[in-house]
Order: sequence, then structure tokens, then C-alpha cells
Amino acid sequence: MISTVEKEDLLRKLCQILIDKAGLRMAWIGVLNRETGDVIPLYIYGVNDGYVEKLKINIKRGSPTAGGPTATALREGRVVVNPDSRTNPDVEPWREEMLKRGFLSSCAIPITVGGHTEYVLNIYSSVPYLFTEEELELLREIQQDISFALERIKKEGYLKIINTAVEKGHEWVLITDRDGRILYVNRAVEEISEYSADELLGKNPRIFKSGYHDRGFYTKLWESLTRGESFKAVFVNRKKSGGIFYLEQTIVPVSVGDGELRYVALGKDITFQKQLEDTIIRLRYLDVITDLPNREGFISKVQSVIDRDRESHHVMFLIDLREFTGINQVYGTEIGDEILRKIASVLQGILFKRDVVGRTGADEFGVLVSGVEERDISLVLDKIFHAVTQPFSVRGKTIRISINIGSSLYPRDGLTARDLFEKASLALSFSRQEGENTYRFFSKEINSLVSDYLEKRESLEKATREDKFFLYFQPFYMTESLRVAGLEALMRLRDDQGNVLPPSEFIYTLERTGLIVELEKALLKKVTEFIKNTGGKFPVAVNISPKSFKSEEFVDSVVGTAGEVGENLILEITERLFVEDPDYARDFLERVRSAGAKVTIDDFGTGYSSLSYLESLPVDIIKLDMEFVRKMVTSDKSRAIVEMVISLAKKLDLKTIAEGVETSEQLEILKDLKCDMVQGYFLSYPMPEEKVRSLLI
Ligand code: C2E
Ligand code: CA
Ligand code: CA
Repeated sequence: MISTVEKEDLLRKLCQILIDKAGLRMAWIGVLNRETGDVIPLYIYGVNDGYVEKLKINIKRGSPTAGGPTATALREGRVVVNPDSRTNPDVEPWREEMLKRGFLSSCAIPITVGGHTEYVLNIYSSVPYLFTEEELELLREIQQDISFALERIKKEGYLKIINTAVEKGHEWVLITDRDGRILYVNRAVEEISEYSADELLGKNPRIFKSGYHDRGFYTKLWESLTRGESFKAVFVNRKKSGGIFYLEQTIVPVSVGDGELRYVALGKDITFQKQLEDTIIRLRYLDVITDLPNREGFISKVQSVIDRDRESHHVMFLIDLREFTGINQVYGTEIGDEILRKIASVLQGILFKRDVVGRTGADEFGVLVSGVEERDISLVLDKIFHAVTQPFSVRGKTIRISINIGSSLYPRDGLTARDLFEKASLALSFSRQEGENTYRFFSKEINSLVSDYLEKRESLEKATREDKFFLYFQPFYMTESLRVAGLEALMRLRDDQGNVLPPSEFIYTLERTGLIVELEKALLKKVTEFIKNTGGKFPVAVNISPKSFKSEEFVDSVVGTAGEVGENLILEITERLFVEDPDYARDFLERVRSAGAKVTIDDFGTGYSSLSYLESLPVDIIKLDMEFVRKMVTSDKSRAIVEMVISLAKKLDLKTIAEGVETSEQLEILKDLKCDMVQGYFLSYPMPEEKVRSLLI
């Protein structure tokens, strides 16, 4: 019935119809001013003659017009009928004027919009008792139609505003159907994405994909949408020209009737904020002098290392530069800054990429070293000390800095970066009190572990300087005849009390410090002397550490020695080294063997290698590990392995030697298996040089 969309039109037309088509005498519409209670006439149609203008109705109780039909209808939201103007006491104030104009009956109809009574429609007839129940029904229908129409008008009014806002606004608005086909984009979409609407309509929003988000992101998005929930996130999208834009976007599923679904995406371009944020974050977390993370940056980086790897041990060091203020005062801040930058770069130089370095205070650096075993911490500490306390030359001046170090360990001392930082700071404050170039670990155990190591290293350095290392010799024998076939040189250390210490007391530390290379070079010289002095009657086997094995310099000196004593020098190298780097091992073997030395694979059977590679390695002797010798007595399997190794060696023209022979039973078995040589406490202990000499001569 109602097609007009404009409110004004609708109301005017309504009055018109009532008069022209329904034969009523007059109709008017008033709007209620909710605050004052006044009813203000809007439209009047039909015989009026100044009547409506004179009314001045106010609906508030107490007003003289409050009891009339119009006021009651508006106040109570119901249709009020005046059946006969001549007798109805409610129209008393207006009776005379009404009768003058022939309004013998009337009716006041409230009209609600959005739940509020806003308008009133008054109609007048020249016929009394016109508004019967039947008519009232019709009037109520009209009333509802009008309400509905007005509501629509209101909404459509809003829609128009919304439309304009959407179309012209700066917010991103994009609508797709349920399959993700783009149905609508506004101007902002075109501007932000650089695509025109024509290029986008019918396409999928995938067109903006930057590759930044992972699969999980889109899974989450679709999960929300299919549940009927909206999804909000910052989308990192790509423009037509390839640039990135950040869109803070909410996607809302909207059902539009008939089971149809639309996805409405509303977004805001936050690229600029994002860039600003990044800069701010950078500045907040960065030290501008060294370009390293500052304290907050350091802690946050450390936290992400921990989050990524909760299984390993991580060590935090806080390095305090002592009297750095003094340096700034004496040399000026420019030189001070230069030193800070140098320290930053030497620290980065000695660490791995995965480690973290930061400037955690004006004269404090933080370091996090990842994946370090507790017993190796001292090595890192050492490196740091060395790097930072080395003399720096800055603008022609040589400056040496003394430091303190405080340290804490993950997970032992704390599980979060901040916690570790606090513990390390505390340790640092203790270190400061102890004087320059000292360190402190938060936990006592580590403190003593590290100080033990450093003490040991100190004493071993001293022992090296004072030439306290020497050799014991343990003979090995031909299995059949039990005649001496050669000697193995074994390292010993005489401590300050005159005790002779075995390698288990010092080999590890010698290896870790690298002292072993120099030492083995010296021992090699002693062995050469020994061979020469004993007239070259017996070959002597020397154990070579992995460090020496890998040192060019050491290999050179072996080659030199081998040139002097030839076949009488045997190098014992553990099987593990062959397995670790077979190519290097082959090179090594070729060099030393062509210089005349022989090579034994020591501890054979412990290196988890297959027998097959024996064929390709140029060695002379295989030394069966003492574990096999021990087990072969009781275990058939071990015995079978020994047997197999021996027979394989024979085929390959290699000699075999069994070490750790402690019983006659073991010796008998080895005889049976035709092992070439034997060595062990059953035959002879390792002994000092003088003793072995007298034994041999
Ligand atoms: P290794 O090369 O396997 O040397 C054999 C070790 O077994 C020696 O211990 C020797 O005294 C011991 N031994 C000999 N016969 C028996 C026996 O019947 N029963 C038992 N239970 N043990 C026996 P030592 O002298 O304490 O040396 C231990 C390890 O230290 C050596 O094992 C070797 O790996 C290392 N080592 C010794 N001297 C040197 C050296 O100059 N350089 C390097 N890199 N390592 C050395
Ligand atoms: Ca050995
Ligand atoms: Ca061995």
C-alpha cells in the first residue's frame, strides 16, 4: 500500500487519502516534542479554518489540554475515539469550535516509530458515531502501516547516510559472497590496494595475499567465519605494485536471507602506524652507540632464544667495564664511545650467530651463549675475558680495560630472561667487590666448577713451563713367544708433592685448553731421544690427541721425527677420529706413513664404525679395545667379534694387538685366536724410563 519513501510525502499523502477517498472532513498530523510535551501540527488537510492552529495541545498531566483525545492517545499509545462531540465531556474545551466546523466525531491515532510514539493522526467526521469497532480495526491497521512505513523511511534515511559513509569513507569495505567472490569494494579499497574496483570484482581476496601469514592463520579465519563468528586480525597484504600494507581488518559473516551469506570485511590501513611502531620499537630496544640491543632488547632477545630452545643450557654473562666513567673523563666521550663499539664488535666476533650480545647499561654488556654444557662454561668465560681485556688502540692511544663478570645459567638459576638477568646482576655485584678482572656465577656449584677448572689450568700451565710431564713405558709382546715387540709411551705428571699422576687427572683439561699440542710435541721429542738412546731396538708407540691430530704444525713435527727414527715410531690414534673425518684421516695417514712412521688404530671397536672402512684406510696395526678382551672370556659374542676382527686384519695384511690383558685365561684365548701381539698388566705395568731401560738392555 505504501510505496513512498519520503516521510513528508507519506504523511501528507495519508491525510489526502483520508479526506479525498474516505470522505472525512479534516485530518491533521502532529509531532510530539518529547521534552516540552507540546504537540506541533505538521500537516493539515480538509476543512480547517484555523482550528488546528488554535489547539495548542500539551500532553503533560496538569496541562489544561491533557485530558483530550490527542494527549491521551500520545501519552497512552492507544487509539482514542470521540464518538460524539456534542456529548463527550473530554472534548469540552474544543466543543464549540468543533461544532462550528461540523466535526461531530473524531479519532486520535498515535503513530509509533522504533517503539516510541512520535506522531499523532487526528481525523474528523461530520457523522457522529462513525468510529465503530469495525472502523477502529481498520484504523489500527492504518496505524500499523504508517508506523511500518515511517520506520522504513527512517532506516532508509540511515542507509543513505551509511551508503555515503561507506562509499566515501577511509575505512576499507569489501563484501564477498560465501565462495569468497568479491561483490563490492569501496573507494578506500581501491586507494589502499591500488587495484580498481573493476579489477577486483568477481575475484578472490587472495589477490592481496603477501605470503606473510601461515596456513594456520587462514585456518583460524575460516573456522571463525564458518562458526558464524567474526574474525579480527592485522592482515599483512600486498598492493598491486607489490608493496606491503597492514590492514587491521574485521570480517563479519552476514546472512542476507534465503540462506544466502555475505562476508563483510571492514578494515583500516595501519601501515603508517606499523612503521612508526617498528621505529619506536627499534629505538626502544636498541642502543644507538653500538647498534646492539639495549637492556630491554637484550632481555627480549634472550627470552626468544629460551622460548625457541628450552632443552639446552644457556649462559648469561654481564660484563661490567670498571672505571669507564674515568675513561670518558680522561679521554673524552668520543673515545669512550669508540671503545664501546670495539668491545661490541670483539664480543660479536668471538660468539656464534645464535648467541646474543647487548649493551645492557652505560658501562655494561650482556652476552647469552647458547647450548653450552656446564663443564665448558669456563672456556667461554675465558674467551670473553681475553677479548674484552685485550688492549684497544683508539686514535693512537692504547687503552686497556678491566672488567667484572657476573653470570647465571639457564635452567639452573632461572627460567626466564628477566630472572637470569637479575641473578647475573647480583653475581656481578659480588664480583665488583672482589676487585678487578674477577667473575662470579650465581650458583656456588658453577662457581667452584669454573674456579676448579681455572685453577687446574693454571697449575697445568705451570707444570708445562716447569717440564713436569714425563713418560712411562708399557711393553707389548708377541703373543706366541712373549718376547717384547715394542713399547707404548704413556704420559704422566709429577705434582708438587712428588706424586705421579695418570692422564685421567689432567688429559681433559689439557685438551680443553689446547696445551696438549705443545706438550705432545715435547713428548714426541723425548720419544725420539729414547729410541735413539736404546739403539732403535724397539718401536715406540705414542698416543696422539684429537687436537694434535688436527694441528698442521704438529703433523709437520711428526713427519720430521719420523724422518729421524723411521719405522720405530708408531702413532696411536683412536678409532673415533677416523670416523669423524675420514678424508682428513686419510691425508694424515698418507703423510706420516710416507715419512716412515707406522699407525695403530687405538681402542678399536669403540668407534661405532663398520669394519668395512678398514680396507680403505692405510694403517698398520689394529689395537683391540680392552673392553673386548675383558668380555670375550664370558661373552661368546665378544669373542666372535674379536675373532672376526683378527681374521679380517690378517686378510688385509694388518697386525693385531690386544690391550688390557689381565689374566692368563685371556692370554690363552688370544693365542688361540692368533692375535699377533698382547699388552696388559698380566704381562707388565707401565713403568718409568729407567726401569724399562734396564729391563730391555
Ligand atoms: P690408552 O691409549 O688406551 O692407554 C692404555 C691405558 O690402559 C693406559 O692407561 C694403561 O696404563 C692402561 N692399561 C694397560 N694395561 C692395562 C690392563 O691390563 N688393565 C687395565 N685396566 N688398564 C691397563 P693410562 O696410562 O692411565 O692412560 C690412559 C689414557 O690416557 C690412554 O689410554 C690414552 O688415551 C691417554 N694417554 C696417555 N698418554 C697419552 C699421551 O701422551 N697423549 C694422549 N693424547 N693421550 C695419552
Ligand atoms: Ca694407546
Ligand atoms: Ca686403548
